[in-house]
Amino acid sequence: REDGDVPAGSRIMVYVRMRPLSKAEKESGARSCVRVVNKKDVYLTEFASETDYLRLKRLKGRHFVFDAAFNDSSNQQEVYNTSAAELVEGVLQGRNGSVFCYGATGAGKTHTMLGTTQNPGVMVLALKDLFNKLRQRCREGDYVVRLSYLEVYNESVRDLLSPGRPLVLREDSKQGIIAAGLTQYTAYSADEVMSLLHQGNQNRTTEPTRVNETSSRSHAILQVVVEYKVRNDSHYVCRTGKLSLIDLAGSERALATDQRTIRSLEGANINRSLLALSSCINALVEGKRHIPFRNSKLTQLLKDSLGGACQTSMIANISPSTLSFGETQNTLHWADRAKQI
Ligand code: ADP
Ligand code: MG
Repeated sequence: REDGDVPAGSRIMVYVRMRPLSKAEKESGARSCVRVVNKKDVYLTEFASETDYLRLKRLKGRHFVFDAAFNDSSNQQEVYNTSAAELVEGVLQGRNGSVFCYGATGAGKTHTMLGTTQNPGVMVLALKDLFNKLRQRCREGDYVVRLSYLEVYNESVRDLLSPGRPLVLREDSKQGIIAAGLTQYTAYSADEVMSLLHQGNQNRTTEPTRVNETSSRSHAILQVVVEYKVRNDSHYVCRTGKLSLIDLAGSERALATDQRTIRSLEGANINRSLLALSSCINALVEGKRHIPFRNSKLTQLLKDSLGGACQTSMIANISPSTLSFGETQNTLHWADRAKQI
């Protein structure tokens, strides 16, 4: 297999998750402009004026259909079961899988991926499920689970489990693209992993002006590698599968480049990874044989986790608020395109 070449026939499953209107949004007079129906249909309604809610004059609507759509009362387990459970099973069979959360800042990506201690998201639920399955099958063989949690910020790669200098990416003949020196944490249970992930999330880059808030330009990638040695009569068969769970940077930055505004180097660089991801998705949509993985750190890291033999789920997170109409529309259009893969 040549560099960047991907076997045909890959498909991305595309899901949409709408978060509830927040208290602050309600108080500022926002209404909902999104309706999720039948667990797969999403209706977006544009009002005549974003500030004139009383007249509620409908301009035009748009109807989208996805592999599944979650409304504002969906819970974390439902989202996990639909979007990621099958991928965890695949990893045990030696396949790669990846789940992305895409959407504007504040749309619910980190809630969906990481969640809270009381209400854990896809990352934690995936590890719980994985360890349960491995425990049930422990008679069949031995396994090792290794975790890495890393960040791409400003086109530099950092280890979230052991923060320090940026890591260098290099090509390894056996493992593909690897981040040199990245921590590979051997995990034994999902409970232990929970605090590790929350700690890792604390290490994500913050905006200089908002010290406690994760930067909207930071991509976080959790990679879970499962090595599973299965006894087969007298010998062992070793299967290796990798699950990548990705909390992407806010997608509003990717749109800013279209306007020829002069942006900071930081802004331009974060866009590079998101735009590169979009280009890879586009190339996959168009059935191209060459996928431009080399264009950014994010896509280099995801080279073996996007398309090809890899199972991919994309969760588009949206806010229902009339105040976020533009972002929601953009996210839905992007997701609609990814659906064609
Ligand atoms: P993002 O990571 O996309 O910037 P967050 O996940 O931080 O967005 O979500 C923004 C806010 O909305 C947070 O306060 C979060 O707790 C809340 N939120 C997001 N999704 C949901 C949901 N499905 N249910 C309840 N609250 C949510
Ligand atoms: Mg976030």
